[in-house]
Amino acid sequence: MTIPAKPGTLTLYYPKWIPGEHGPTGPIQDLAGLRFTAGGQTLSWRRDLLDGWTFQVEVPAGVDSVEASLDFISPASAEGKYTAGATATDRMAVINWNTLLLYPEGGTSDDLSYEARLRLPSGWKFATSLSIASQSGAEIRFSPVSLTMLVDAPVIAGEFLKAVPLNPRQTPAVEMDIAADSAAALQAPAEVWEHYKNLVRQAGALFGAQHYRQYHFLYGLSDHVAHFGLEHHESNDSRSPEGALVNAEKRLLSSGLLSHEYVHSWNGKYRRPADLATPDYEKPMQTDLLWVYEGLTTYLGEILTARSELRTPEEFRDFLAYSAASLNHRSGRAWRNLQDTADGVPSMQDAPHQWESWRRPLDYYEEDELNWLWVDAIIRQQTHGQKSMDDFCHIFHGPPSGGPAIKTYTFDDVVNTLNQVAPYDWRGFWKERLTNHGPGAPLGGIEASGWKLVYDEVRSPLVLAHEAARGEVDAEYSVGLWLKEDGSITDTIEGMPAAKAGIGPGMNLVAVNGRKFTSQVLRDALRGGKTSSAPLELLVENTGYYKTLKVDYHGGEKYPHLVRDEAKPDVLSEILKPR
Ligand SMILES: [Zn+2]
Repeated sequence: MTIPAKPGTLTLYYPKWIPGEHGPTGPIQDLAGLRFTAGGQTLSWRRDLLDGWTFQVEVPAGVDSVEASLDFISPASAEGKYTAGATATDRMAVINWNTLLLYPEGGTSDDLSYEARLRLPSGWKFATSLSIASQSGAEIRFSPVSLTMLVDAPVIAGEFLKAVPLNPRQTPAVEMDIAADSAAALQAPAEVWEHYKNLVRQAGALFGAQHYRQYHFLYGLSDHVAHFGLEHHESNDSRSPEGALVNAEKRLLSSGLLSHEYVHSWNGKYRRPADLATPDYEKPMQTDLLWVYEGLTTYLGEILTARSELRTPEEFRDFLAYSAASLNHRSGRAWRNLQDTADGVPSMQDAPHQWESWRRPLDYYEEDELNWLWVDAIIRQQTHGQKSMDDFCHIFHGPPSGGPAIKTYTFDDVVNTLNQVAPYDWRGFWKERLTNHGPGAPLGGIEASGWKLVYDEVRSPLVLAHEAARGEVDAEYSVGLWLKEDGSITDTIEGMPAAKAGIGPGMNLVAVNGRKFTSQVLRDALRGGKTSSAPLELLVENTGYYKTLKVDYHGGEKYPHLVRDEAKPDVLSEILKPR
């Protein structure tokens, strides 16, 4: 990097608060090889004592620019989150510019202009929403852009890269650019591409405008990179297992990822909570409105999976039942309200998964899907089916179309727009939804849209796919227990039978009723308990000690489903119909 400078102390920042990551997650531990020179002379530097992302460089007299160089150490294991996670394999990579640059103090990220260059392994292709100034061989020069738009425009590259236009001959153009670890991973059945084309059409109908000049779904398929989605104005950086397009079970599990990230172009990038719209990457973000930023995106992304046929209505309901049941068994609701799950994100998002139900994870995603469904059902009731959340989206996220822009909002703006669609006590509704302690999940939206959450002994295709992908046994709604096929206990739910008996994550289940544990032995024992008054006897190993714990449970296996409530109209199916 060549950075304009004047003699004295030059303060430079490595991006810390990364948009869409909701925390101080810039991967500073992976910055190495930092070196500053001016006129061939090495300059001394020191890290700020109060902020590890800040560097002070001593600039000598007579110098008007500093050369800075650094390495970003690409993580070696597939763990990690967002842009700090593993990002490259032998055959593909995703370049996130925030990991590769410094920026000077003073001014905003909109004010700073960057001219980026990229050299790829020979034979690799690439895709990005950045515009290209020139290209010679494997070296690409991008046109100058603001720092904001550079950080907002990752590049996907690889040996096997496929570009699929999703709205041929229309503007603004939308395409999917998939880089995978094999050519075979790109050979999805024809209907998959049709479903993603539907997604673009259905999002257009939902919002009635676009806020991008072009849009790229940058989709990385590898078992060796971190799996997540990260939203941008004109693209998204989404990563799934290698088989996520070609394998039906993996495709089901990934079926909501791209629709969620695409919705963010409207909800999160264009419309953004005022206290998340920071002027640079150093100023902390406040996350109290993530129940709109992420919660509404979850709701809209999910209904778009059904409207675009990425999921059948039945698959959509299986996902909804899965989230609702999980939230309905959230023991941590007793001490922590939904608002706090959003407020606490910057410090809490890397919490371990053990004791997850008692900690409460990032519930503002799924629980606010239930709440926004409830809002949609209330709007439809109040207006006798004349208005819906589609009308809210047209007002809040809709025309006029244009390039990337940010229009910030506050709690009051959300309430006022809802009142514009259908007058109601929306302030009271949201205050209650965000601050209550249950008991149980907010199921009012499911019930008001004509469905009921029930449990039976049949595992849905979704539960089977989750169990297969994680190598786990899901006994969450019977005894409150997840464990691996080898008996290692992943988690328990406080207040449910397994936890009450003294079982917790980190232990190993060795035997069930005197017989060596297998998933089948456990399932058989759960079913057998329905007709027996004897408790389940679980032989458990805990940090090298063995003990037999008695679980007094007789309810059989339990898996969640939605079933119709014939006393009410089927509003949910109406919501899921393509526009
Ligand atoms: Zn999101």
